[in-house]
Amino acid sequence: MLEPTKIVKEALSKRTLGSSPAGQTGTSQAAQRAAGASTANKSAESNARPQTTGPRRAASDPPEPSKEKVGALMKGLQSWGTDEATLSEQAEREQAAENEALSDLDQYGDLFDNPGGGRRDGIISTNDLKAFSEGNFNRDAAREQLLDLGVAEDDLDATLDRLGQSARYLLDNKDVLNRLDVANDQRDRTDGRISRGDISREVFQRQLEQARNGDLPPGPPASNRGSYEPTVTTSNSERTPEVIAQQELAILEAVNSGQPVSFTNANGQTEELTVRQIQNTGGNAVYEITGADGHTMRIESELGASENRTALARLADYYTQLPEQHRDSVDKIEFRREPDDSAAARFYSSGDRIVFYDGLKHLNEEVFDHEFAHGIGYENDGLGENVFHYFGRLFTGSDGEGTPQGWSEAIGADAGERISDYANTNEKEDFAECWAAYMEAMDNGPEALAKLEEAYPARYAIMDELYHGGE
Ligand SMILES: [Zn+2]
Repeated sequence: MLEPTKIVKEALSKRTLGSSPAGQTGTSQAAQRAAGASTANKSAESNARPQTTGPRRAASDPPEPSKEKVGALMKGLQSWGTDEATLSEQAEREQAAENEALSDLDQYGDLFDNPGGGRRDGIISTNDLKAFSEGNFNRDAAREQLLDLGVAEDDLDATLDRLGQSARYLLDNKDVLNRLDVANDQRDRTDGRISRGDISREVFQRQLEQARNGDLPPGPPASNRGSYEPTVTTSNSERTPEVIAQQELAILEAVNSGQPVSFTNANGQTEELTVRQIQNTGGNAVYEITGADGHTMRIESELGASENRTALARLADYYTQLPEQHRDSVDKIEFRREPDDSAAARFYSSGDRIVFYDGLKHLNEEVFDHEFAHGIGYENDGLGENVFHYFGRLFTGSDGEGTPQGWSEAIGADAGERISDYANTNEKEDFAECWAAYMEAMDNGPEALAKLEEAYPARYAIMDELYHGGE
Protein backbone atom coordinates (compact mmCIF):
# COMPACT_ATOMS: atom_id res chain seq x y z
CA MET A 1 0.00 0.00 0.00
CA LEU A 2 2.75 2.41 0.92
CA GLU A 3 5.64 3.39 -1.17
CA PRO A 4 9.10 2.49 0.02
CA THR A 5 11.39 5.45 0.24
CA LYS A 6 12.57 6.82 -3.08
CA ILE A 7 16.05 5.40 -2.77
CA VAL A 8 14.94 1.89 -1.99
CA LYS A 9 12.25 2.05 -4.64
CA GLU A 10 14.75 3.14 -7.27
CA ALA A 11 17.15 0.39 -6.29
CA LEU A 12 14.32 -2.10 -6.38
CA SER A 13 13.12 -1.04 -9.81
CA LYS A 14 16.65 -1.19 -11.22
CA ARG A 15 16.95 -4.60 -9.76
CA THR A 16 13.62 -5.71 -11.16
CA LEU A 17 14.52 -4.58 -14.68
CA GLY A 18 17.20 -7.23 -14.66
CA SER A 19 19.27 -5.45 -17.33
CA SER A 20 22.47 -6.72 -15.79
CA PRO A 21 23.28 -10.25 -14.74
CA ALA A 22 22.79 -11.06 -11.11
CA GLY A 23 25.85 -10.69 -8.98
CA GLN A 24 28.35 -8.12 -7.84
CA THR A 25 28.63 -6.08 -11.03
CA GLY A 26 24.94 -5.30 -11.37
CA THR A 27 24.39 -4.58 -7.74
CA SER A 28 27.31 -2.24 -7.40
CA GLN A 29 26.05 -0.19 -10.37
CA ALA A 30 22.65 -0.01 -8.77
CA ALA A 31 24.25 0.92 -5.51
CA GLN A 32 26.18 3.74 -7.14
CA ARG A 33 23.05 5.06 -8.75
CA ALA A 34 21.16 4.75 -5.51
CA ALA A 35 23.92 6.52 -3.62
CA GLY A 36 23.82 9.26 -6.24
CA ALA A 37 20.10 9.62 -5.85
CA SER A 38 20.53 9.77 -2.13
CA THR A 39 23.08 12.54 -2.45
CA ALA A 40 20.74 14.53 -4.66
CA ASN A 41 17.91 14.11 -2.22
CA LYS A 42 20.03 15.11 0.68
CA SER A 43 21.19 18.15 -1.25
CA ALA A 44 17.63 19.40 -1.55
CA GLU A 45 17.09 18.71 2.12
CA SER A 46 20.20 20.49 3.25
CA ASN A 47 19.22 23.57 1.30
CA ALA A 48 15.72 23.54 2.68
CA ARG A 49 16.59 23.01 6.30
CA PRO A 50 18.85 25.22 8.35
CA GLN A 51 21.53 23.22 10.12
CA THR A 52 20.71 22.95 13.76
CA THR A 53 23.48 20.70 14.96
CA GLY A 54 27.19 20.55 14.24
CA PRO A 55 29.25 23.25 12.59
CA ARG A 56 27.42 25.52 10.17
CA ARG A 57 28.38 24.91 6.58
CA ALA A 58 28.54 27.46 3.80
CA ALA A 59 25.87 27.16 1.15
CA SER A 60 28.52 26.32 -1.44
CA ASP A 61 29.86 23.36 0.51
CA PRO A 62 29.15 20.00 -1.04
CA PRO A 63 25.99 18.43 0.39
CA GLU A 64 26.49 15.80 2.99
CA PRO A 65 24.78 12.50 2.24
CA SER A 66 23.45 10.62 5.20
CA LYS A 67 26.30 8.16 5.66
CA GLU A 68 24.23 5.89 7.79
CA LYS A 69 21.45 5.63 5.23
CA VAL A 70 23.73 5.12 2.24
CA GLY A 71 25.87 2.67 4.17
CA ALA A 72 22.90 0.56 5.10
CA LEU A 73 21.66 0.68 1.54
CA MET A 74 25.02 -0.34 0.07
CA LYS A 75 25.13 -3.23 2.47
CA GLY A 76 21.63 -4.20 1.49
CA LEU A 77 22.43 -4.06 -2.21
CA GLN A 78 25.69 -5.95 -1.91
CA SER A 79 24.05 -8.82 -0.16
CA TRP A 80 21.15 -8.82 -2.61
CA GLY A 81 22.36 -11.82 -4.54
CA THR A 82 22.71 -13.92 -1.43
CA ASP A 83 19.92 -12.57 0.72
CA GLU A 84 16.94 -11.29 -1.22
CA ALA A 85 15.05 -10.46 1.96
CA THR A 86 17.44 -7.75 3.11
CA LEU A 87 16.17 -4.91 0.95
CA SER A 88 12.54 -5.51 1.67
CA GLU A 89 13.38 -5.90 5.33
CA GLN A 90 15.04 -2.53 5.25
CA ALA A 91 12.07 -1.02 3.47
CA GLU A 92 9.88 -2.53 6.15
CA ARG A 93 12.00 -1.02 8.89
CA GLU A 94 11.84 2.37 7.17
CA GLN A 95 8.10 1.95 6.91
CA ALA A 96 7.76 1.02 10.56
CA ALA A 97 9.75 4.09 11.63
CA GLU A 98 7.65 6.27 9.36
CA ASN A 99 4.43 4.78 10.69
CA GLU A 100 5.47 5.35 14.27
CA ALA A 101 6.42 8.97 13.63
CA LEU A 102 3.13 9.64 11.84
CA SER A 103 1.14 7.84 14.47
CA ASP A 104 2.80 9.95 17.18
CA LEU A 105 2.20 13.11 15.20
CA ASP A 106 -1.46 12.20 14.92
CA GLN A 107 -2.17 10.78 18.35
CA TYR A 108 -0.23 13.45 20.23
CA GLY A 109 -0.95 16.28 17.82
CA ASP A 110 -2.28 18.36 20.71
CA LEU A 111 1.27 18.55 22.06
CA PHE A 112 2.94 19.29 18.73
CA ASP A 113 0.43 22.02 17.94
CA ASN A 114 2.22 25.03 19.48
CA PRO A 115 4.50 23.26 21.96
CA GLY A 116 5.73 26.62 23.21
CA GLY A 117 2.26 27.36 24.52
CA GLY A 118 -0.43 29.49 23.02
CA ARG A 119 -3.66 28.63 21.28
CA ARG A 120 -4.00 25.41 19.34
CA ASP A 121 -5.08 25.99 15.77
CA GLY A 122 -4.94 22.51 14.26
CA ILE A 123 -1.73 23.40 12.46
CA ILE A 124 1.61 21.80 13.22
CA SER A 125 4.41 23.86 11.76
CA THR A 126 7.92 22.63 11.07
CA ASN A 127 8.95 25.14 13.73
CA ASP A 128 6.67 23.34 16.20
CA LEU A 129 8.40 20.07 15.31
CA LYS A 130 11.80 21.67 15.63
CA ALA A 131 10.97 23.10 19.03
CA PHE A 132 9.78 19.71 20.16
CA SER A 133 12.76 17.79 18.84
CA GLU A 134 15.11 20.20 20.61
CA GLY A 135 13.25 19.96 23.89
CA ASN A 136 12.28 23.59 23.57
CA PHE A 137 8.80 23.35 25.06
CA ASN A 138 7.06 23.52 28.39
CA ARG A 139 7.69 20.05 29.75
CA ASP A 140 5.32 20.33 32.70
CA ALA A 141 2.46 21.43 30.48
CA ALA A 142 3.26 18.63 28.04
CA ARG A 143 3.20 16.06 30.85
CA GLU A 144 -0.23 17.36 31.88
CA GLN A 145 -1.45 17.02 28.30
CA LEU A 146 -0.16 13.45 28.09
CA LEU A 147 -1.99 12.59 31.31
CA ASP A 148 -5.17 14.00 29.78
CA LEU A 149 -4.57 11.82 26.73
CA GLY A 150 -4.44 8.74 28.93
CA VAL A 151 -0.68 8.16 29.21
CA ALA A 152 0.31 6.59 32.53
CA GLU A 153 2.34 8.66 34.97
CA ASP A 154 5.31 6.29 34.75
CA ASP A 155 5.39 6.52 30.96
CA LEU A 156 5.35 10.31 30.64
CA ASP A 157 9.06 10.92 30.23
CA ALA A 158 9.63 7.96 27.92
CA THR A 159 6.70 9.12 25.78
CA LEU A 160 8.03 12.67 25.61
CA ASP A 161 11.44 11.35 24.57
CA ARG A 162 9.87 9.23 21.85
CA LEU A 163 7.81 12.17 20.60
CA GLY A 164 11.01 14.19 20.31
CA GLN A 165 12.51 11.39 18.21
CA SER A 166 9.43 11.21 16.04
CA ALA A 167 9.59 14.95 15.45
CA ARG A 168 13.24 14.57 14.50
CA TYR A 169 12.45 11.68 12.15
CA LEU A 170 9.88 13.78 10.30
CA LEU A 171 12.26 16.72 10.02
CA ASP A 172 14.94 14.39 8.65
CA ASN A 173 12.64 12.71 6.14
CA LYS A 174 11.41 15.54 4.01
CA ASP A 175 9.54 13.32 1.56
CA VAL A 176 7.12 12.28 4.29
CA LEU A 177 6.90 15.77 5.71
CA ASN A 178 6.35 17.46 2.35
CA ARG A 179 3.62 15.05 1.38
CA LEU A 180 1.72 16.11 4.49
CA ASP A 181 2.61 19.75 4.04
CA VAL A 182 1.29 20.17 0.49
CA ALA A 183 -1.84 18.09 0.97
CA ASN A 184 -4.00 20.91 2.22
CA ASP A 185 -2.47 23.70 0.21
CA GLN A 186 -3.46 24.99 -3.16
CA ARG A 187 -0.99 24.57 -6.03
CA ASP A 188 0.90 21.87 -4.12
CA ARG A 189 3.18 24.23 -2.28
CA THR A 190 5.02 23.50 0.90
CA ASP A 191 4.61 26.23 3.44
CA GLY A 192 5.90 24.56 6.60
CA ARG A 193 2.35 24.13 7.90
CA ILE A 194 0.80 20.71 8.37
CA SER A 195 -2.86 20.52 9.20
CA ARG A 196 -4.15 17.87 11.56
CA GLY A 197 -6.78 17.09 8.97
CA ASP A 198 -4.06 16.08 6.52
CA ILE A 199 -2.39 13.90 9.10
CA SER A 200 -5.76 12.31 9.72
CA ARG A 201 -6.15 11.62 6.01
CA GLU A 202 -2.69 10.04 5.79
CA VAL A 203 -3.27 7.87 8.85
CA PHE A 204 -6.68 6.78 7.48
CA GLN A 205 -4.93 5.47 4.36
CA ARG A 206 -2.58 3.38 6.47
CA GLN A 207 -5.32 2.18 8.80
CA LEU A 208 -7.45 0.93 5.91
CA GLU A 209 -4.91 -1.77 5.14
CA GLN A 210 -4.78 -2.79 8.81
CA ALA A 211 -8.57 -2.84 9.01
CA ARG A 212 -8.81 -5.05 5.92
CA ASN A 213 -6.44 -7.51 7.59
CA GLY A 214 -8.50 -7.37 10.77
CA ASP A 215 -5.68 -6.01 12.90
CA LEU A 216 -6.74 -2.46 13.58
CA PRO A 217 -6.69 -1.71 17.32
CA PRO A 218 -10.17 -0.80 18.59
CA GLY A 219 -10.91 2.68 19.85
CA PRO A 220 -11.85 3.44 23.47
CA PRO A 221 -15.09 1.83 24.67
CA ALA A 222 -18.21 4.00 24.74
CA SER A 223 -19.54 4.59 28.23
CA ASN A 224 -23.25 4.96 28.81
CA ARG A 225 -24.88 7.27 31.28
CA GLY A 226 -27.80 5.01 32.09
CA SER A 227 -29.51 7.91 33.81
CA TYR A 228 -33.10 6.81 33.31
CA GLU A 229 -32.72 3.19 34.28
CA PRO A 230 -34.48 3.60 37.62
CA THR A 231 -37.74 4.40 35.85
CA VAL A 232 -37.63 2.29 32.70
CA THR A 233 -35.30 -0.64 32.72
CA THR A 234 -33.71 -1.25 29.37
CA SER A 235 -30.09 -1.74 28.53
CA ASN A 236 -28.35 0.42 25.99
CA SER A 237 -27.00 -1.78 23.24
CA GLU A 238 -23.54 -0.48 22.59
CA ARG A 239 -21.94 -2.36 19.73
CA THR A 240 -19.95 -5.56 19.95
CA PRO A 241 -16.24 -5.50 19.03
CA GLU A 242 -17.08 -7.36 15.79
CA VAL A 243 -19.67 -4.76 14.80
CA ILE A 244 -17.27 -1.94 15.68
CA ALA A 245 -14.49 -3.47 13.55
CA GLN A 246 -16.80 -3.91 10.59
CA GLN A 247 -18.20 -0.38 10.92
CA GLU A 248 -14.77 1.22 11.22
CA LEU A 249 -13.62 -0.66 8.14
CA ALA A 250 -16.64 0.72 6.26
CA ILE A 251 -15.80 4.25 7.41
CA LEU A 252 -12.17 3.93 6.27
CA GLU A 253 -13.26 2.48 2.91
CA ALA A 254 -15.72 5.33 2.46
CA VAL A 255 -13.32 8.15 3.33
CA ASN A 256 -10.45 6.69 1.30
CA SER A 257 -12.52 5.90 -1.78
CA GLY A 258 -14.93 8.82 -1.73
CA GLN A 259 -17.58 6.34 -2.84
CA PRO A 260 -20.75 5.27 -1.02
CA VAL A 261 -20.35 2.15 1.13
CA SER A 262 -22.82 -0.23 2.68
CA PHE A 263 -22.92 0.57 6.36
CA THR A 264 -24.66 -1.81 8.77
CA ASN A 265 -25.70 -0.32 12.10
CA ALA A 266 -25.92 -2.10 15.45
CA ASN A 267 -29.55 -2.98 14.75
CA GLY A 268 -28.57 -4.82 11.58
CA GLN A 269 -30.01 -2.20 9.21
CA THR A 270 -27.85 -1.58 6.16
CA GLU A 271 -27.72 1.78 4.43
CA GLU A 272 -25.64 3.34 1.66
CA LEU A 273 -23.49 6.02 3.29
CA THR A 274 -21.06 8.51 1.86
CA VAL A 275 -18.40 9.73 4.26
CA ARG A 276 -16.11 12.35 2.78
CA GLN A 277 -13.19 14.23 4.22
CA ILE A 278 -13.38 17.83 3.08
CA GLN A 279 -10.20 19.41 1.68
CA ASN A 280 -8.74 22.86 2.20
CA THR A 281 -10.48 23.53 5.47
CA GLY A 282 -7.60 24.93 7.48
CA GLY A 283 -6.32 23.00 10.45
CA ASN A 284 -8.71 20.43 11.83
CA ALA A 285 -10.35 17.47 10.12
CA VAL A 286 -13.78 18.05 8.55
CA TYR A 287 -16.01 15.24 7.35
CA GLU A 288 -19.46 14.94 5.84
CA ILE A 289 -21.80 12.02 6.31
CA THR A 290 -24.63 11.67 3.80
CA GLY A 291 -27.20 8.94 4.26
CA ALA A 292 -29.88 7.46 2.05
CA ASP A 293 -32.22 10.38 2.81
CA GLY A 294 -29.77 12.81 1.17
CA HIS A 295 -29.22 15.00 4.22
CA THR A 296 -25.59 15.84 4.95
CA MET A 297 -24.23 16.15 8.44
CA ARG A 298 -20.94 18.00 8.82
CA ILE A 299 -18.43 16.89 11.44
CA GLU A 300 -15.60 19.14 12.60
CA SER A 301 -13.02 17.56 14.85
CA GLU A 302 -10.06 18.75 16.87
CA LEU A 303 -9.15 15.12 17.53
CA GLY A 304 -6.64 12.76 15.96
CA ALA A 305 -7.29 10.19 13.23
CA SER A 306 -7.94 7.17 15.44
CA GLU A 307 -10.42 9.15 17.48
CA ASN A 308 -12.01 10.51 14.31
CA ARG A 309 -12.40 6.98 12.98
CA THR A 310 -14.10 5.89 16.20
CA ALA A 311 -16.26 9.01 16.23
CA LEU A 312 -17.39 8.62 12.62
CA ALA A 313 -18.30 4.96 13.10
CA ARG A 314 -20.32 5.75 16.23
CA LEU A 315 -22.04 8.72 14.63
CA ALA A 316 -22.90 6.71 11.53
CA ASP A 317 -24.27 3.93 13.72
CA TYR A 318 -26.48 6.23 15.79
CA TYR A 319 -27.43 8.47 12.86
CA THR A 320 -28.66 5.61 10.65
CA GLN A 321 -30.95 4.46 13.45
CA LEU A 322 -32.84 7.76 13.35
CA PRO A 323 -35.98 8.03 11.23
CA GLU A 324 -35.04 9.65 7.93
CA GLN A 325 -37.58 12.46 8.20
CA HIS A 326 -35.84 13.86 11.31
CA ARG A 327 -32.21 13.60 10.27
CA ASP A 328 -32.07 17.19 9.04
CA SER A 329 -32.76 18.36 12.61
CA VAL A 330 -29.00 18.51 13.17
CA ASP A 331 -26.58 19.82 10.55
CA LYS A 332 -23.29 19.94 12.33
CA ILE A 333 -21.39 18.07 15.00
CA GLU A 334 -18.21 19.31 16.61
CA PHE A 335 -15.63 17.50 18.71
CA ARG A 336 -13.55 19.58 21.08
CA ARG A 337 -10.54 18.43 23.03
CA GLU A 338 -11.14 20.58 26.08
CA PRO A 339 -13.63 19.49 28.71
CA ASP A 340 -16.60 21.68 29.59
CA ASP A 341 -17.59 20.96 33.15
CA SER A 342 -21.03 22.45 32.70
CA ALA A 343 -22.15 19.97 30.06
CA ALA A 344 -21.47 16.43 28.89
CA ALA A 345 -22.37 17.50 25.40
CA ARG A 346 -24.17 20.64 24.39
CA PHE A 347 -26.75 21.38 21.79
CA TYR A 348 -27.02 24.76 20.16
CA SER A 349 -30.29 25.45 18.45
CA SER A 350 -28.73 28.14 16.30
CA GLY A 351 -27.30 26.26 13.37
CA ASP A 352 -28.64 22.94 14.68
CA ARG A 353 -25.29 22.06 16.10
CA ILE A 354 -24.14 19.53 18.68
CA VAL A 355 -20.83 20.10 20.43
CA PHE A 356 -19.07 17.26 22.20
CA TYR A 357 -16.44 18.29 24.72
CA ASP A 358 -13.58 16.34 26.26
CA GLY A 359 -12.78 14.24 23.20
CA LEU A 360 -14.86 11.11 22.83
CA LYS A 361 -15.71 10.85 26.50
CA HIS A 362 -19.38 11.70 26.05
CA LEU A 363 -20.00 10.24 22.61
CA ASN A 364 -22.30 7.31 23.17
CA GLU A 365 -25.70 6.39 21.80
CA GLU A 366 -27.60 7.77 24.75
CA VAL A 367 -25.99 11.21 24.75
CA PHE A 368 -26.20 11.39 20.95
CA ASP A 369 -29.92 10.58 21.00
CA HIS A 370 -30.49 13.08 23.80
CA GLU A 371 -28.72 15.91 21.98
CA PHE A 372 -30.26 15.04 18.64
CA ALA A 373 -33.66 15.13 20.35
CA HIS A 374 -33.16 18.84 21.05
CA GLY A 375 -32.87 19.33 17.30
CA ILE A 376 -36.03 17.31 16.72
CA GLY A 377 -37.76 19.26 19.50
CA TYR A 378 -36.98 22.63 17.94
CA GLU A 379 -37.95 21.44 14.47
CA ASN A 380 -41.33 20.30 15.79
CA ASP A 381 -42.25 22.89 18.41
CA GLY A 382 -44.38 24.81 15.95
CA LEU A 383 -42.59 28.05 16.84
CA GLY A 384 -40.36 28.14 13.81
CA GLU A 385 -36.68 28.86 13.59
CA ASN A 386 -36.20 32.25 15.13
CA VAL A 387 -32.69 33.49 15.65
CA PHE A 388 -33.85 35.98 18.31
CA HIS A 389 -34.96 33.11 20.47
CA TYR A 390 -31.49 31.67 20.43
CA PHE A 391 -30.27 32.73 23.85
CA GLY A 392 -33.59 32.17 25.51
CA ARG A 393 -33.75 28.71 23.99
CA LEU A 394 -30.36 27.80 25.31
CA PHE A 395 -31.35 28.27 28.90
CA THR A 396 -35.07 27.87 29.22
CA GLY A 397 -37.01 25.54 27.00
CA SER A 398 -40.19 26.57 28.74
CA ASP A 399 -43.55 27.17 27.07
CA GLY A 400 -43.06 24.38 24.62
CA GLU A 401 -39.91 25.80 23.11
CA GLY A 402 -37.70 22.95 21.99
CA THR A 403 -40.40 20.35 22.58
CA PRO A 404 -42.80 18.86 20.06
CA GLN A 405 -46.28 20.34 20.11
CA GLY A 406 -48.44 19.01 22.93
CA TRP A 407 -45.50 18.00 25.12
CA SER A 408 -46.42 20.29 28.05
CA GLU A 409 -49.89 18.78 28.11
CA ALA A 410 -48.47 15.27 27.84
CA ILE A 411 -46.24 15.89 30.89
CA GLY A 412 -49.37 16.92 32.78
CA ALA A 413 -51.34 13.92 31.56
CA ASP A 414 -48.70 11.32 32.42
CA ALA A 415 -48.85 10.55 36.09
CA GLY A 416 -45.70 9.84 38.04
CA GLU A 417 -42.14 10.98 38.17
CA ARG A 418 -40.00 12.35 35.38
CA ILE A 419 -38.00 9.76 33.49
CA SER A 420 -34.74 10.94 35.06
CA ASP A 421 -33.42 13.56 37.44
CA TYR A 422 -32.11 15.54 34.50
CA ALA A 423 -35.54 15.55 32.88
CA ASN A 424 -36.66 17.75 35.79
CA THR A 425 -34.46 20.58 34.51
CA ASN A 426 -37.11 21.84 32.10
CA GLU A 427 -39.54 20.59 29.47
CA LYS A 428 -37.07 20.37 26.63
CA GLU A 429 -34.74 18.24 28.76
CA ASP A 430 -37.73 16.10 29.65
CA PHE A 431 -38.34 15.55 25.94
CA ALA A 432 -34.67 14.86 25.20
CA GLU A 433 -34.43 12.30 27.99
CA CYS A 434 -37.67 10.62 26.89
CA TRP A 435 -36.58 10.47 23.25
CA ALA A 436 -33.26 8.90 24.22
CA ALA A 437 -35.19 6.32 26.26
CA TYR A 438 -37.52 5.74 23.31
CA MET A 439 -34.63 5.14 20.92
CA GLU A 440 -33.08 2.81 23.45
CA ALA A 441 -36.33 0.89 23.83
CA MET A 442 -36.38 0.61 20.03
CA ASP A 443 -33.05 -1.21 20.26
CA ASN A 444 -34.38 -3.45 23.01
CA GLY A 445 -37.57 -4.57 21.30
CA PRO A 446 -41.35 -4.67 21.81
CA GLU A 447 -41.24 -5.48 25.51
CA ALA A 448 -39.12 -2.44 26.30
CA LEU A 449 -41.36 -0.24 24.15
CA ALA A 450 -44.46 -1.54 25.95
CA LYS A 451 -42.89 -0.75 29.30
CA LEU A 452 -42.11 2.80 28.22
CA GLU A 453 -45.62 3.28 26.86
CA GLU A 454 -47.11 2.04 30.11
CA ALA A 455 -45.07 4.47 32.18
CA TYR A 456 -45.53 7.54 29.92
CA PRO A 457 -48.54 6.95 27.63
CA ALA A 458 -49.14 10.55 26.54
CA ARG A 459 -45.48 11.29 25.86
CA TYR A 460 -45.10 7.92 24.16
CA ALA A 461 -47.92 8.71 21.72
CA ILE A 462 -46.14 11.91 20.61
CA MET A 463 -42.81 10.15 20.18
CA ASP A 464 -44.40 7.26 18.29
CA GLU A 465 -46.05 9.74 15.94
CA LEU A 466 -42.71 11.54 15.46
CA TYR A 467 -40.88 8.30 14.77
CA HIS A 468 -43.38 6.74 12.39
CA GLY A 469 -45.14 9.82 11.07
CA GLY A 470 -44.18 12.66 8.81
CA GLU A 471 -42.42 15.89 9.62
ZN1 LIG B 1 -30.25 18.28 26.96
